[in-house]
Amino acid sequence: MVKPIDVQNVGILTGDYMKFCPKCGSSNIEWVIPQTWSKWECRECGYIGVFIVEDGKIADEIRKEYLKNKDKIED
Ligand SMILES: [Zn+2]
Repeated sequence: MVKPIDVQNVGILTGDYMKFCPKCGSSNIEWVIPQTWSKWECRECGYIGVFIVEDGKIADEIRKEYLKNKDKIED
């Protein structure tokens, strides 16, 4: 019997593996290495940290919340 493919691993298998900002859900992030500690930096919201989202579905939810809150602030 063929097992269903784990959705979370599809990106890895297809080479389409993405990383997302945990603050705004953007994929516009870069690996920064300041001296001895490695971190991620988001080009969109300015987030800097070691934690990163690797699940596109979670990133999508973060993205929605971020944009919703952003609209509120701008109002
Ligand atoms: Zn961000």
